[in-house]
Amino acid sequence: MCVELIATGNEIMSGLTLDTNFNWTAAKLSSSGIEVRYHCTLNDNLEDLLASFETASKRSRFVIVSGGLGPTEDDLSALAASKFLGTPLVFDPVAYNDIVQKLAERGREPNSYHKKQAMFPEKATVIENSVGTSAGFSFLLGNSKFYFLPGVPREFRSMFSEYVFPDIVNTLEKGKSLCVKVLRIFGLGESEVAEKLGDFSPEGVNVGYRIRLPEIHLRLTASGYDSEVLQSLLQNACTEASKRLTGFVFSQEEETLEEATASLLLQKDLTLSVAESCTGGLCASRFTDVAGSSAYFLGGTVVYSNDSKEKLLGVSAETLERFGAVSEEVVAEMSYRVKTLFGSDIGLSISGIAGPGGGTLEKPVGTVWFGFSHVLSGTSCEKRNFTGTRDEIKNFAAATAIDIVRKFCLDYVA
Ligand code: AMP
Ligand code: MG
Repeated sequence: MCVELIATGNEIMSGLTLDTNFNWTAAKLSSSGIEVRYHCTLNDNLEDLLASFETASKRSRFVIVSGGLGPTEDDLSALAASKFLGTPLVFDPVAYNDIVQKLAERGREPNSYHKKQAMFPEKATVIENSVGTSAGFSFLLGNSKFYFLPGVPREFRSMFSEYVFPDIVNTLEKGKSLCVKVLRIFGLGESEVAEKLGDFSPEGVNVGYRIRLPEIHLRLTASGYDSEVLQSLLQNACTEASKRLTGFVFSQEEETLEEATASLLLQKDLTLSVAESCTGGLCASRFTDVAGSSAYFLGGTVVYSNDSKEKLLGVSAETLERFGAVSEEVVAEMSYRVKTLFGSDIGLSISGIAGPGGGTLEKPVGTVWFGFSHVLSGTSCEKRNFTGTRDEIKNFAAATAIDIVRKFCLDYVA
């Protein structure tokens, strides 16, 4: 029952245009429980098109072809389809009148090229295009239904939504539904998640990994006819997986890390301020991405230079001189000072080397220190070593800092 997507166009094969039609369609189908099994991209080449139709007809129930329906010589999809079917291209006067009318609305006259856009393989069903001039078409060959749509994303999406998607859903078994739950995990690598899950293999539930660095999303799906049964299967699987990953699952409800942390701060009635060096305000930005953050986020400072750490926060010059900006002693002072400065319950601090330069043998690029200070529990620090580009290190550091707050809140009893 699988779907195959074929994207055509030299502009895609050359890397100039991103195949967004594929991403968009695959996301729409798979979130409805319809499997997309094959995807290929081709140049505007008749021989390649024919070969791909041939292969698709042998392995796929639904084949969606994007592109190649324009008026110019390099648009070959209709010609390829007619050769594949062994039937001629036939002029469709209704489709042509529609093109003429659409052009007239834009104050334009048809030319000889537009006639080409009204030529379809004999016996194909025309798919109307309500937002552009290139009509599409479909046909059934053996057990495979082929749909041809124009590549322009706005037209492709409109025709897919209006015609192709309902047609596929109608053809598939009625009443079947797919239930999905996503566990969002932070603080573990993919293999560590797998290790912790061990023999986790819940019956009737499919388990898939999605890497959204620095997070890992575990996608649990169940399909069937009784949605109550599916929900209960999924809930049990979620509970079991969360147990095996205790402390690392921050959401089962599609929340972001900052949203999950925000809920906990509110719940525990805690306020927060941050002092950031290498993350340059990223952490404060993420906390304030959450609507209503003023209830717990009091403020932050970006203290990038040693001078600003000293002057704005009051970190001692001696500590900076003796241990360096990226050190346990400095982040400890930063977190304590920022907490005092803003009068918050929690002070959070980050100082590290985002690279690509600035690393030493002792403190290589990716070394990041975190400070955490709480009015009652005191101050603690931790060091991490991240790898990746400057951007990745900054993102990892900001997320780690947020997660430190989340973990504290989890255990915190007022
Ligand atoms: P076509 O229908 O092949 O003439 O494509 C018309 C235009 O749509 C191309 O020049 C691209 O800019 C865009 N396009 C074609 N195929 C895709 C695709 N798979 N994803 C995104 N854009 C596309
Ligand atoms: Mg094209």
